[in-house]
Amino acid sequence: AGNRFGAKAFLSLPNTSPPPPPPPPPLPHTHTHTLQPVASKASLYELIDSCIIILTARFTYEIAPVFVLMEQLTLKKMREIIGWPSGEGDGIFSPGGAISNMYSVMIARYKYFPEVKAKGMSAAPRLVLFTSEHSHYSIKKAGAALGFGSENVVLLSTDERGRVIPADLEAKILDVKQKGYHPLFVNATAGSTVYGAFDPINEIADICEKYNMWLHVDGAWGGGLLMSRKHRHKFSGVERANSVTWNPHKMMGVPLQCSAILVREKGILAGCNSMCAGYLFQPDKQYDVSYDTGDKAIQCGRHVDIFKFWLMWKAKGTIGFEQHIDKCLDLSQYLYDKIRNREGYEMVFDGVVIIPPFLPQPQEHTNVCFWYIPPSLRGMEHNSKEYREKLHKVAPNIKAMMMESGTTMVGYQPQGQKVNFFRMVISNPAALQSDIDFLIDEIERLGRDL
Ligand SMILES: *Cc1c(COP(=O)(O)O)cnc(C)c1O
Repeated sequence: AGNRFGAKAFLSLPNTSPPPPPPPPPLPHTHTHTLQPVASKASLYELIDSCIIILTARFTYEIAPVFVLMEQLTLKKMREIIGWPSGEGDGIFSPGGAISNMYSVMIARYKYFPEVKAKGMSAAPRLVLFTSEHSHYSIKKAGAALGFGSENVVLLSTDERGRVIPADLEAKILDVKQKGYHPLFVNATAGSTVYGAFDPINEIADICEKYNMWLHVDGAWGGGLLMSRKHRHKFSGVERANSVTWNPHKMMGVPLQCSAILVREKGILAGCNSMCAGYLFQPDKQYDVSYDTGDKAIQCGRHVDIFKFWLMWKAKGTIGFEQHIDKCLDLSQYLYDKIRNREGYEMVFDGVVIIPPFLPQPQEHTNVCFWYIPPSLRGMEHNSKEYREKLHKVAPNIKAMMMESGTTMVGYQPQGQKVNFFRMVISNPAALQSDIDFLIDEIERLGRDL
């Protein structure tokens, strides 16, 4: 269909080959310190998007032909970047990473137990999903929503950096098999939400092959790093995954919502979800009905999420996204280096030095997790209950004061046995080192007397 008007050539997205254009001049420094792109240039794409998208409805080719082609082409490009041969496979844009992860669980179940689609879960043995204790809660939620039961989502132990321990996965699979249940699915997180950790995909893929299980990679947060020649090695082995979640609306700065579920096996998404409603998806249309992609989705009407992403890709180029990613990672490295040995700071985890030829790069993603220790706590015994209780209140107090003074904001949370710590993430490429300096000054100004 697309070739008729040369549409494919017009729609096609840039490659990595052209030399990088000179970086744009830094934006003037203002007093809002936005380290995530709440109000950056991305808003422009969103505005254009909103103006155009009002008209569109569900995804049959006849209703939205250009957007269907844009979606097909962009998904193919993303699959090529993942490393699947010729970008073959399947996929769809969904309303977010949580839904994309849910798709992966549905497709895995369909792959091994297709009869569940018609007969329900009683047609299958007790099915078990595996994901790390640091993974996003959406995997557990999918287990509950899809009738597996949250008790059949087994949480895997992690090392001190928050990465899955492969031996623990294998032990837990064996345990489940021994109980007579069926291990179905493993989720490996590439860029965990809190620590920014990357699970070892190759080692997990070996185990999935051994036990004939589905491997999903949740790259909702980390996916953007696939665009960077410097950082994509953290995804080593991703081409062995059966499915991948990748959210352009996170690290890549595309306005919400824009998330893709990418699948290696072609046709399985339609097999899993199609209901062939006669009033929309007539098989005897005068065009190739494989362009009627809407029946692959669990939705009926869908928002056009592709346009703003495609437009950004056209405008920034692949190189532009790469620079965006590299810049955010450099900036988080700057923050990490600045506070690692600074008085009054403690890191939640130490950096990792990764394989040569890359320089030691303590930061896996832009997540920098740390405690600020006010002077009044510095001499105290770190293991005492009193110290832990006091430290637990520091980050919430500082954040509340930040909100009251309206200068900046940074998130915090506890994790496992660890009391509240700050979790700084950077995804706005317009942020500057001076914003980081300001943040640190502000934490110290507000926290000095706690
Ligand atoms: C944010 C996130 C999700 C959920 O994505 P939404 O688009 O917010 O639904 C899933 N997995 C990871 C690792 C995330 O960081």
